[in-house]
Amino acid sequence: MPFVTADTQQSDYDVIVVGSGAGGGQAAYALCMDGAKVLMLEAGRHYAYTEAPMFRTPELAPLRGASTPGKPYGYFDATVDGGWSVPGEPYVRASEDEAGRFDWWRARMLGGRSNHWGRISLRNGPYDFKPYSRDGLGFDWPIGYEDVAPYYDKVEMLIGVYGTNEGLENTPNSPADCLLPPPARLVSDHLIAQRAGRLGIPAIPAHRAVLTRALDHERVPALLHPGNARAQSILAEDMRRRTPCLWATPCGHGCSIRANYQSTTVHLPPALMTGNLDILTDAMVHEVTMGSGGRANGVNFIDRLSGRQRHATARVVILAASACESARILLNSTSARFPQGLANSSGKVGRYVMDTVGSSMQGQIPLLENLPPLNEDGADGHALYVPWWLYPEQRAGKLGFARGYHIEFGGGKRMPGLGTGAGLEWLTGGSYGTKFKEDVRRYYGSFVGFDGRGEMIPNEHSFCEIDPVVKDRWGIPVLRFHWQWSDHERRQAAHMQTTFAAIIDAMGGRTRKGIKTGADAIATGGSIIHEVGGAIMGADAKTSVTNRWCQTWDVDNLFIADGAVFASNADKNPTLTIMALAWRAADHILERFKRKEL
Ligand SMILES: Cc1cc2nc3c(=O)[nH]c(=O)nc-3n(C[C@H](O)[C@H](O)[C@H](O)COP(=O)(O)OP(=O)(O)OC[C@H]3O[C@@H](n4cnc5c(N)ncnc54)[C@H](O)[C@@H]3O)c2cc1C
Ligand code: SF4
Repeated sequence: MPFVTADTQQSDYDVIVVGSGAGGGQAAYALCMDGAKVLMLEAGRHYAYTEAPMFRTPELAPLRGASTPGKPYGYFDATVDGGWSVPGEPYVRASEDEAGRFDWWRARMLGGRSNHWGRISLRNGPYDFKPYSRDGLGFDWPIGYEDVAPYYDKVEMLIGVYGTNEGLENTPNSPADCLLPPPARLVSDHLIAQRAGRLGIPAIPAHRAVLTRALDHERVPALLHPGNARAQSILAEDMRRRTPCLWATPCGHGCSIRANYQSTTVHLPPALMTGNLDILTDAMVHEVTMGSGGRANGVNFIDRLSGRQRHATARVVILAASACESARILLNSTSARFPQGLANSSGKVGRYVMDTVGSSMQGQIPLLENLPPLNEDGADGHALYVPWWLYPEQRAGKLGFARGYHIEFGGGKRMPGLGTGAGLEWLTGGSYGTKFKEDVRRYYGSFVGFDGRGEMIPNEHSFCEIDPVVKDRWGIPVLRFHWQWSDHERRQAAHMQTTFAAIIDAMGGRTRKGIKTGADAIATGGSIIHEVGGAIMGADAKTSVTNRWCQTWDVDNLFIADGAVFASNADKNPTLTIMALAWRAADHILERFKRKEL
């Protein structure tokens, strides 16, 4: 069973998985490795990781690889289809006012956004699953850290995550031998760790889904698939084919040596090797169809190649089209029983959309000027981060906002592109010719970027619904987004700014624009691309869309395996949790298959 078309698909699948990104890839992997027959429907085109232009340098691209509306992250970005706008697939903002604006990033390709994500892979901590119990805001999850921890372990071992165990508050350790060793630090990382440390701010190794060494193909497969010799042998073979990182190419181009996690490099190859996975690309799902007994029996989709309406059938349907797109499919699946959309008896589908609170600052650090090029400069991504450290102050009511943030850093020389060496006038006073070249060499690598990533509390004013008028090129009604930050998020962003400035100051550095205040300090909703919620899980069918297993309360055989189920959005980047929950939901489905309940 491999790649199929709308005509060659079969009629007796156990499970349909809609979407092939982190959530869909993980669900399909777990199901196929345990023998379930899966049809994966993906709206985008087929994409092979071997397409990744990882060794292409900017001068080989038009405009030297600069960002364009069609390729916001540059010409060689791994996102071959998609971005802030998708041709023929609009969405509506209820407000264009900056404070009420929501931006929606979508990838349309096999593997979805996993082909180009930052690979920062942080576990939620115990507090993050019970936020309401701690401060009376938002919602508790119906599960706790202890329910998800075994799946964090499994995902980390499967995809390969580097990092260390530091034993810090609400920043969970992984079991021994779970994490790969962290990479060497940049010079700027050493300086940040030293100077932030003097301020009592802990900078520790980041956790990223990149192989710093080969995976242990002799030990890990047996841990992930106990008692399943075939799955173990398939995974062992596939792990041997993944190569450790070269530390020389931008991960955003994709990784053709499979050193980092993408659904296309980690989940789909072994799932295909089982023979249990069929993948149908260019299949735009718009509706879950219902059979007898109040059960889903498949999905309707547009075959994008022919433009024709098609149907696929299975015993179980899993939506993993990304949080808001899964909500859209549910809202568009109306019937006499569900006039407001499928699985929406609570009225909560589309509600409580959350992003990450973002705020940024760049510092210029004289101590980092004129450094010789170092091997570590080639490394892409982050080697260091600051987990939220002010729990005691927050408990004492000293901060004026709820929930925390972490800080990610960018530094080093990285690959030069269009714009490298531009905008130095505030430092040089303007220079030309030989002096300009000297200035560029002097300042190149002396900048450090700070990105705060904070928790947003779900609110009644941030949601998506079906727009009554606008349809996409296929005639499918589109989403309309409403957005509002609360004072908690605004104050948190302001706190990030003062923290960044303090660290830059402690490094002996300076900023060009100083501290941003008010609405300028907080990034636009959706722009951090960590959107979750829209079909939250809960303990009560009246106030949530799914139960603790990501199973919709209203439809027994309908599950959601993306960020839509998040009941809160901790400062930790969401994707590791999406994968852990998807694997957990898949295991639950397999159990119920064995008990003949589904
Ligand atoms: C530049 C960037 C950096 C990021 N960095 C990080 C990071 O460092 N750490 C982190 O945790 N997260 C990060 N993220 C977010 C991360 O990519 C997402 O959280 C993650 O990919 C979500 O997985 P998903 O499976 O829900 O959605 P996706 O990966 O978006 O996959 C959804 C798939 O479903 C398909 N689809 C959509 N609609 C339909 C439909 N109607 N029918 C059929 N198929 C459909 C899409 O084409 C897509 O392939 C980043 C994202 C971006 C863009
Ligand atoms: S830096 Fe490493 S993980 Fe990233 S694309 Fe290059 S080889 Fe792959």
